[in-house]
Amino acid sequence: MRWKQQIQGMKAYQPGKPIDEVKEMYGLEEVIKLASNENPYGSSPKVKALLQSDATNHAIYPDGYAQNLRTAVANHLQVKENELIFGNGSDDLIAIITRALLYPGVNTVMADPSFSQYGHNAEIEGAEVRKVPLIEGRHNLHAMLEAIDDKTSVVWVCNPNNPTGTIVTDEELKAFLAKVPSDVLIVLDEAYIEYVNDPTYKDTLPYYKQYPNLILLRTFSKAYGLASFRVGYGIAQEEVIAKLDPIRAPFNNTVLGQAVAIVALEDQEFIDFCREENEKGKAQYVAFCEKHNLNYYPSQTNFILFEVKADSNVVFEEMMKRGFIIRSGAALGAPGYIRVTIGTEDQNAKFLLLLEEVLTEQGVFA
Ligand SMILES: *Cc1c(COP(=O)(O)O)cnc(C)c1O
Repeated sequence: MRWKQQIQGMKAYQPGKPIDEVKEMYGLEEVIKLASNENPYGSSPKVKALLQSDATNHAIYPDGYAQNLRTAVANHLQVKENELIFGNGSDDLIAIITRALLYPGVNTVMADPSFSQYGHNAEIEGAEVRKVPLIEGRHNLHAMLEAIDDKTSVVWVCNPNNPTGTIVTDEELKAFLAKVPSDVLIVLDEAYIEYVNDPTYKDTLPYYKQYPNLILLRTFSKAYGLASFRVGYGIAQEEVIAKLDPIRAPFNNTVLGQAVAIVALEDQEFIDFCREENEKGKAQYVAFCEKHNLNYYPSQTNFILFEVKADSNVVFEEMMKRGFIIRSGAALGAPGYIRVTIGTEDQNAKFLLLLEEVLTEQGVFA
C-alpha cells in the first residue's frame, strides 16, 4: 500500500508500563506507578460523587462544542468562550495544531529533550523537526530563535518542561514572544502549570491577548487527576481557534469527560492540597539527591529527573522488580537519569529506600 514515506519504521508511543502487567510479570501483590505524572491523590472527591450518581444516556453523542465545560473554563479563567478549543487530552490539540500547520517543506522548532509528541506528530506530517538542545535542563530560547527561519510554522515551548521539570522565566518568555516572527505559531504547553510555585513564572494569560500567534495548552490529566477522561484545552485569540476548530474530530470529548472536568474545576481546594503535598514530596527526592550527591533538575512539576550514576535502564528494571514503575531517562533523551513522578509521602519514602538498595547493589555509593 501507499503509506506515507515518513511513517515507515515509525514506532507507537511507549507509555509507562501498566500496573497489572508488572504485577503478573514479577508476581507482586502491589505495584506503584510513578511513571506518567498522574496524580497520586486521584481527583476531587466531587468527581467520584458525580460518577456514582451518573444517569447519563450513553447512547447519545456528546456535545461536540463542549458548551457547559466551555462556559465553566471561560468563567474560571476570565476568557471568552470562543477563545477556547477542547481536545481529547492536550495530545489531541498537539495533533490538531500539527495537522493545521505542518507539511513537507516547512519546519518546526522545539527543545530537546522535551515532550515527544511535538516531534512525533510533525514527522507524521512530513515536516522538518529542528531540535534545540536544552542548557542545564532548560530551554535555550536564544538558540530556538536562531533556529526559526522563513520556513518555520510552529515553535513549541514546554513550560514547565517534560522531562526536566524546569521553567522558562517570565522575563525570558516575554523577550522570546516579542522576537518570534508574527507568522509563526508559538505553542506554550502548560500541562503542569498548577504545580508551579516559582515567583519568576508569571501568569501567561495576558500574553495570548497581546500575541495573536500564541496558544496556551492546558490539561485536566495531571493536577486535576483526570488522565483517563482525556480532557485538555487550548487558549488563543478567536481567529486562531476558528482556524483550528475544523481540524478537530466532531466528538473529541466524552459526555462524562466534560462533566467531570466541570466539577473538578470547581474544587480548587483539591488542587491547592495537591500542590502543597507535591512540594513536600519533592523535598524528599531533593534530600535524597543532596545526600548522595546526585545531580537533579530543579522541578516545578509533579515529577523529578535525577542522576543515578548507573545504567538507567538497569535501575528501571530493578525498581520494577521491587514494585515501582518509573521512566528510564534513556527513553526520554536523558541517559543516566530517571524520571520519577512524585507520589504520596509513604510511596516516596518506600521508593527511595529501595532505590538506595538498588544503587548500592550497582556500586554507585562504593
Ligand atoms: C502529559 C503531558 C501532555 C498530555 O496530556 P494529555 O492532556 O493527557 O493529553 C501534554 N504535554 C505535556 C508536557 C505532558 O507532560
